[in-house]
Amino acid sequence: MIYPIVIYGHPVLRKVAEEIDKDYPGLDQFINDMFETMYFSEGIGLAAPQLGKSIRIFVIDGKPVAEDEPELADFKKAFINAHITERSGELLPMTEGCLSIPNLREEVNRESHVRIKYYDENWEYHDEVYDGYKARIIQHEYDHLDGTLFTDKVSPLRRRLLKSKLTAISKGKFEADYRTILAGQRIR
Ligand SMILES: [Zn+2]
Repeated sequence: MIYPIVIYGHPVLRKVAEEIDKDYPGLDQFINDMFETMYFSEGIGLAAPQLGKSIRIFVIDGKPVAEDEPELADFKKAFINAHITERSGELLPMTEGCLSIPNLREEVNRESHVRIKYYDENWEYHDEVYDGYKARIIQHEYDHLDGTLFTDKVSPLRRRLLKSKLTAISKGKFEADYRTILAGQRIR
């Protein structure tokens, strides 16, 4: 099932998401739906709060950008109850976008290395280190679980300039090829 995407301004994007149990109802189906929704809306990562569920899951599939970033060709994963335990290395700038903030791309600084502990969709535990583009995507999606959006991380000057654009987006003034949920609209 393809879910609508929750848009900037909706309070669910600002909550700290909760851990789930292995027997969370419909978990396998929900993870499949996350991948399906991500492919449909042409994202390379998606976090559960973006579908209106404040739980600690995100999915990534780097295939769409593999032409430019070959190491992402097989980078397809679900991260459950993820916790980043280290961020290190250089702070590097890169332009990011987000399905919850359509039509807006901004440069964001992030650490080049992360260490992350999580369970996969088979409930296998992992403790792994990533760098480069993978570390970038992981940090963006992980931030969603803590209620942080990439626009929070742009420079203070840029943030001031973005304010009216973000307000417009929160009111539905954007173009998107997927269904969306705005603040004040009910999540089924
Ligand atoms: Zn995002």
